[in-house]
Amino acid sequence: MINSHDNLEQTVTRTIRRHRLIKKSGKVAVAVSGGKDSTTLLYILHKFGYNVTGIMIDLKIGKYSGQNRHNITSFCKSLRIPLNIIDIRDHVGYSMCYIRSALSDRGASWNACMVCGALKRYILNKVARQSGFDVIATGHNMDDESQTMIMNILRGSPENNLRIGPRAGVRLDTKFIPRIKPLYQCTEAEIESYSRSKGFPVVYEPCPCSEGVFRRNLIGALKGIEKRYPDYKENVIKAMAGHQSNLKSRFKIGHKVQEHCIACGEPSKGPLCFYCQLLEKIGCPVRKA
Ligand code: AMP
Ligand code: ZN
Repeated sequence: MINSHDNLEQTVTRTIRRHRLIKKSGKVAVAVSGGKDSTTLLYILHKFGYNVTGIMIDLKIGKYSGQNRHNITSFCKSLRIPLNIIDIRDHVGYSMCYIRSALSDRGASWNACMVCGALKRYILNKVARQSGFDVIATGHNMDDESQTMIMNILRGSPENNLRIGPRAGVRLDTKFIPRIKPLYQCTEAEIESYSRSKGFPVVYEPCPCSEGVFRRNLIGALKGIEKRYPDYKENVIKAMAGHQSNLKSRFKIGHKVQEHCIACGEPSKGPLCFYCQLLEKIGCPVRKA
């Protein structure tokens, strides 16, 4: 008999096969936060023999980051998985807490999760490229993906939905390391149950900085919707899969020559990348790639 935990592993391996996410010989950087999703992902990829290394950005969000760092270090040590911990201050010069307050003092309208997400994507891409990884795997799950898609539509930014799906296909650039999401067909509840049953050393509480941000409010609202439409998450990601090629041609993705940031040289949507705009706003000098 197949139990639900075998099911989760099968869903992950099926997603990898179906979407050709990882070659057996490929070098995989698993972006680990110390939370249940990325720890589960690292565990399953390691169990199935993929060549994985954990990469964690220590965001320096007080005790929360300290606990996550401690947990992932002991987890990787027990399974002998290589782990690379990057201090955000070595890249940006400041902790995430400082960056948040500096941006709010300067009246920036970006919310904390948006800023943190952009910094993480930028640093992970650069570090993974410089260390010779073939792909970056993240622990995004079906709940994350369906919420993001709904948020992008509500905000009027459908082009951002090109980041949705098992393989983020936005950028065609040798400086851009493909990002994959092997858990995108697994729900948060399934992953939490798997992680708890395995006794993984993880913090189950959300990041303290996410208090009051749009996503947290949306999650509350979607709970009511889920009672009426229990399959809504799967329906949303299926609908998105059907629209990807329309979005690609509408936003000319894949046709346009990729731009590079004039300040740091990394791939960018415009002359100055979002990372450099952030650094400029908080008065931090840009370090060229
Ligand atoms: P989040 O944006 O916090 O919902 O996290 C989504 C995914 O990004 C996680 O499943 C991880 O794969 C990755 N991630 C989040 N935080 C970190 C971090 N501090 N360092 C490395 N990867 C992270
Ligand atoms: Zn830049």
